[in-house]
Amino acid sequence: MRPVYCAILLFGLAARCSASLGEATFTIIFSFEKTHSPFALEEMQRETERLLPVRINWMRREDLSLGQSFDRVAIITMKGNCEAHLDFPAPLSKRVALAYTHTSDGLVLPFADVECDRVRALTRPVNDRQLGRALGRVLAHEMHHILTRSGSHTKDGYTQPTLSSADLTDVSDMVANGH
Ligand SMILES: [Zn+2]
Repeated sequence: MRPVYCAILLFGLAARCSASLGEATFTIIFSFEKTHSPFALEEMQRETERLLPVRINWMRREDLSLGQSFDRVAIITMKGNCEAHLDFPAPLSKRVALAYTHTSDGLVLPFADVECDRVRALTRPVNDRQLGRALGRVLAHEMHHILTRSGSHTKDGYTQPTLSSADLTDVSDMVANGH
C-alpha cells in the first residue's frame, strides 16, 4: 500500500510525500438518504478507520459551509435504510454490488455509494453494531479504490473483489490483511 500512497500524494503538494503514513488526513463527506442508526454509524466509522492506512476526518454533508475546501476528499452517499431492525429486506436473489465508486472515462472519481439495504439483506445483522462493522468494511473497500484511483483488488482482505457475508460479519481482524 505504501508506494501507492506516495503516488496519490503526488497529486497534492510534493512535500507531503515525505509525510509518514499516519500523518495524512483524508476527509470523508457523508450523507444518508434514508434512516440510520447512530450506533451503526459509529461502528462503521471505527471499522473504516481501523482498515484504512490514512487518518479520516468525517464530515456530514449538511455541515459543509460555502467555500470550504479539502486537499483529499471523498463524497459518500449511504443509500437505503442503514438501521439493523428496520423492515428487513428480502434476501438477495442474485449477486449485486453492495457499493460502487463512480468513474468517468475509466478514471476513478472520489464519489461512492453504499447500499445499506443490500448489505443488510446479505448479512442479516443481529444489531446495529454488526451492521456498522459490515458497512465499514464495504466503505473501506470503496475508499481503497478512491485512495489508489484504481479498480485494483487483492487476493484477500477487505480489498478482495468480492466480500461475502462471512467476510463482513467476522469478528476477527481477518479482513485487515488486504494492506
Ligand atoms: Zn472493488
